[in-house]
Amino acid sequence: MRAIGIKENIDGITALDIPEPEIESAKQVKVEIIEAALDGTDRAMVKNKLVDPPPGEDKLVLGHEAVGRVIGVGDDVKRLKVGDIVVPTARRGCNQCSSCLHGMSDMCSTGLYTERGIHKLHGFFTEFIVEEEEYLVSVPEGIRHLAVLTEPLSIGEKALEQIQYVGGRLPWACAHPDHRFSEPGWGGCKKALIVGAGPLGFLAAALLLVEGVETYVAVNRGDDNLKVKYLKEMRAHVIDTRDSDMKKVKDQTGTLDVIIEATGAAQLAMDLIGGLGRNGIYVFTGIPRGDRQVCLDGDMLLRQVVRFNQVIIGSVNSNHTHFESAIKHLGYMQETFGPVIDKVITDRFPMDDFKEAFSLNDPNMIKVVLEIGKW
Ligand code: BGC
Ligand code: ZN
Repeated sequence: MRAIGIKENIDGITALDIPEPEIESAKQVKVEIIEAALDGTDRAMVKNKLVDPPPGEDKLVLGHEAVGRVIGVGDDVKRLKVGDIVVPTARRGCNQCSSCLHGMSDMCSTGLYTERGIHKLHGFFTEFIVEEEEYLVSVPEGIRHLAVLTEPLSIGEKALEQIQYVGGRLPWACAHPDHRFSEPGWGGCKKALIVGAGPLGFLAAALLLVEGVETYVAVNRGDDNLKVKYLKEMRAHVIDTRDSDMKKVKDQTGTLDVIIEATGAAQLAMDLIGGLGRNGIYVFTGIPRGDRQVCLDGDMLLRQVVRFNQVIIGSVNSNHTHFESAIKHLGYMQETFGPVIDKVITDRFPMDDFKEAFSLNDPNMIKVVLEIGKW
């Protein structure tokens, strides 16, 4: 069957031919992939030739964001049935550490996890996959057109969950997930800044906005950019970082409860630390691939973090629960923002035009989707 990925000794993204998988055990499910999306990790793997194939192989099928239809189930599959729409999760646990044994492979402590389409397991840029039922999340019919956004949104869900855990140290901040809608704000966060408006930054902003948080987004684009336009339609405050120094950014936002870094631009991330207020939480989610040095006032950093009880957290990946919250939030976003949220998918290409999809470099692009199967 057709697949797309990277291969040792071949430059760039390439077409691959791999055998169609079949159900081999009772808890497995066969899924026909309908849509799959590209992200920064895929582009970085192609650009930097980061081929991390399954053991004994020389190629890796890319893709870790997808939606598909169940076309076959093993005898012991309980929840899913043929015809269901599902989204697969990306990471598979090490099966050794306590986190992985409790369904939290996103917090794997051995580092022996694998990730579909990224790290030692083939991904979803292909026609069919076979997967254990536990790694497939059900999608309601009404949001299937948005479901390919579940994985990137789940990364934001995890970041927000981390904020909620830390925020729960304050007496008035509710840390219990069932109470999310009891009052505006999130885990003590009433005002947040998202750095970057790539898919992750954009979706994290939508998430905070739908939760009633006053949300600022720092973007290196002007008002003529579509991302800026859509963010404003969702009532985000957009700050153009091209002509502002960081003091000006701070003047616009005032003191922040939360900053979420979603670009991987280390210097910018450091420059913004000064905007974080008392008991503030800073979450890093962008993964830089280079080794650029940054300039940092270390004394200021230590003084501020200590005196203000601040917390800096790194957050990567997501587990089944974050995918489920993402599915729920896609529904809320559709109700709250209407067609704006559909516009997150800015570009669509038939699977065979994958080279165009990978080489697209448009300042207005948010999510680029490959159309693999039919609804
Ligand atoms: C994916 C995560 C993954 C991370 C590092 C991201 O693009 O969304 O699921 O853990 O890359 O591999
Ligand atoms: Zn583990």
